[in-house]
Amino acid sequence: MMDFGFTEEQELFRKAVREWCRKNLPLEKIREWDSKQEVPHDIIKQMADLGLLIMTAPEEHGGVGADWVTACIAAEELAYADISIAIPVLWLVESSWGFVVDKYCTEKVREEVIRKAIRGDAFIGIASTEAGGGSDVAAFKSTAKKEGNEWVLEGEKTYISGTEEALKFGGGFFTVARTASAPPGAPHRGMTGFYLPLKAPGVEVSKRFDDMGRMAISTGGFLMKNVRLPDSNVLGEVDKGFYLTMEGFDAARILIGAACVGAAQRALEIGMDYIKERRAFGRPIGKFEGVQFELADDYAELEMIRWLVYKTAWMMDERYKKKRFSPTEVAKWISMCKLKAPHFAFKAFKDSMLWHGAYGYTKECPLEMGLRGIMSYCIGAEGSTNIQRIVIARELLGKEFIPYK
Ligand SMILES: Cc1cc2nc3c(=O)[nH]c(=O)nc-3n(C[C@H](O)[C@H](O)[C@H](O)COP(=O)(O)OP(=O)(O)OC[C@H]3O[C@@H](n4cnc5c(N)ncnc54)[C@H](O)[C@@H]3O)c2cc1C
Repeated sequence: MMDFGFTEEQELFRKAVREWCRKNLPLEKIREWDSKQEVPHDIIKQMADLGLLIMTAPEEHGGVGADWVTACIAAEELAYADISIAIPVLWLVESSWGFVVDKYCTEKVREEVIRKAIRGDAFIGIASTEAGGGSDVAAFKSTAKKEGNEWVLEGEKTYISGTEEALKFGGGFFTVARTASAPPGAPHRGMTGFYLPLKAPGVEVSKRFDDMGRMAISTGGFLMKNVRLPDSNVLGEVDKGFYLTMEGFDAARILIGAACVGAAQRALEIGMDYIKERRAFGRPIGKFEGVQFELADDYAELEMIRWLVYKTAWMMDERYKKKRFSPTEVAKWISMCKLKAPHFAFKAFKDSMLWHGAYGYTKECPLEMGLRGIMSYCIGAEGSTNIQRIVIARELLGKEFIPYK
């Protein structure tokens, strides 16, 4: 028989996270941090105390060994509270790329960054995108050449979330660089994953981008000029970094799906409160079918996407625990979440803003923060919309239908 329920432990966990969010992440604070463009460090430390940071890492590595369904619950609750999605972004970037680094790193790197990030004392993110484009991972220009026991990295990474955080608190990024020429027909081979501390000599951090949303987490870029990393900073096998990058994207994308569900739920709840009170033509506007039908449609879509996300998170757990589904099958489901959840959440914020009339267009109303923040996931953070479509179609039609090959 199918059981769509969460375990008692997961329900208790959701309650605890929601209660912490209610006390510590009220919308007035979210607005303040959005304006100041900073998440207070104390909040990150509290999240660490709750066991939320890189929570899927095993206990022996300092994590709590959470499953992906539980991680999605955390993502949903954090974004329900912080609809600007800055804290969810910071949290999920660390959760997914910390997961990959932890899985493939040496004990030295684990000590240097993972254990610290889990305690809230360092930042760990992803630096894959380059100025020439982010979608075509195999075309990246950054290189790493072996010299003795060291790797020398050259190149540039841009649109990277968390550069200021990594400068302030220490830490760095999962990054990929070309280490061998690609064999014909396999451009994704010959890339290697590295842990790159942002303060490594030769890394020059450029200024923060003036983003339109999720203002409390920075986005920046950096040059790598003769950056020398020890062999111990290689993640996984040399020349196989593309696969690690895809594994990290999978983790990030499922958490994005859950975060978008949480934020959209809040947008609709804010809207429902308003349409029950606001009156026009002698009655609450929620009595008009033009408004309530939109709400009903949005709510139905929200639930469809919520269960798509949790089914996918369950598949991911089955993949890791029991090798039950193939990685590419799970990737297809994950891409369906990343394809649908951000655009739906954007619509939920837009609809709720419209129900608010002129007030919805002001910064007194919290909804505009959500619209700005969610847009980052519609555009492409952790992979653009069309790239999700390509992943899905690849699984449906076969690899010979990949459009760029
Ligand atoms: C707020 C924000 C934060 C980010 N944080 C990070 C980060 O922390 N680390 C990091 O590495 N990157 C980060 N990125 C970059 C992100 O990963 C890229 O934006 C994404 O991979 C797309 O790359 P691009 O922006 O270069 O667009 P491009 O790759 O140039 O694509 C532009 C457009 O063309 C479309 N397109 C491209 N190829 C195809 C195709 N074959 N078929 C159909 N359409 C196609 C895309 O869908 C997109 O709409 C961030 C981006 C944003 C907006």
